[in-house]
Amino acid sequence: MRSAALYKMLVNYFDPDESRILFRRASEQIGSENPDNDFLAICRDALALLQSLAAQPALAGSSVAPLINDCNESFFIAGTMFHINLDLPLDTNKYGPTIVSSSLQVRKLMATDPSYTAHEGFMRLWFSERCWAPGCSATFAREGRAFAACSGCNRVTYCTRECQARAWKHPDVPHRAICKQIKYLADATGVSAKPEADGMTPFRTVCTQRNVDRQALVAFSAHMVKLVEAVSFAPRFEEAQRMLRAASTEGRDEEAPST
Ligand SMILES: [Zn+2]
Ligand SMILES: [Zn+2]
Repeated sequence: MRSAALYKMLVNYFDPDESRILFRRASEQIGSENPDNDFLAICRDALALLQSLAAQPALAGSSVAPLINDCNESFFIAGTMFHINLDLPLDTNKYGPTIVSSSLQVRKLMATDPSYTAHEGFMRLWFSERCWAPGCSATFAREGRAFAACSGCNRVTYCTRECQARAWKHPDVPHRAICKQIKYLADATGVSAKPEADGMTPFRTVCTQRNVDRQALVAFSAHMVKLVEAVSFAPRFEEAQRMLRAASTEGRDEEAPST
C-alpha cells in the first residue's frame, strides 16, 4: 500500500519543485536516512526481487502472479517518476536498469511526443480532485464534495461559479482559450473522464491512428504546464503527509511479527 499511496501522490504533484519537497518528506515518513536516493534504492531492490519472483515457473500461473504484477507496476511507476522529477543521472548501478531505461524513454517522449504530455494532462485533471481556477486551492477532500466540471469540456473542475468565471477570462491562462481543444481531444481520442492508469500506450496509439491534431495536443500540454503553475498546490501537501503517515503506519503493522 505504501507504493500505491506514493503513486497517487505523484500523480497529484507532478511538478519538480513540489516533487522534491515531497520526496524528502516521503523519505522522512518512511524512515530513510538517505533522502537523496533511498526511496529509489527501495524501488530498485523491490523491482529486482519482484522480477525474479515473476520468473519462477511455480509462481507464474498462480494466484500470487497478479499481486506480483501490481507491486511491480507500482514500484516501476513511482521509481520512474521520482527519477525523472529529481532529474537524476542515468546510473544503472545506483538506480537499477529498469528505472533508468524507463526514465530515459519517458524523458525522450516528454520532449518529442505531445500525445504523451497530453495524456498526463488528462490524468492530472481527473486525479488532482481540485479547483482549477488560478490562485484557488480548494480540493474535494477539504470541501467534502466533488466539484462540477466545465460543461464545455467536461474535464476541468471548479469549486464555485465565481472560480469558473474567473478562470474563463484569466489574463495568463484563460480557460476559454483551451476549452474547445480539450473537448476536441477528448472526443477524438475517446479518453474517458477518469483515464486508466495504464492508458498511456493506447492513448498514444489512438492519436496516431486517428490522426489527432498535433497542434491541439501541443496547446493542451502547454496550457496544463501553465495551469499547474498558476493554481496553488500547497494545501495538498498536508493531505499527502496524512496519506504517507497512514501508509507508513500500515507498513509497520504489516512488518510486525505475528507471534
Ligand atoms: Zn471547459
Ligand atoms: Zn475555486
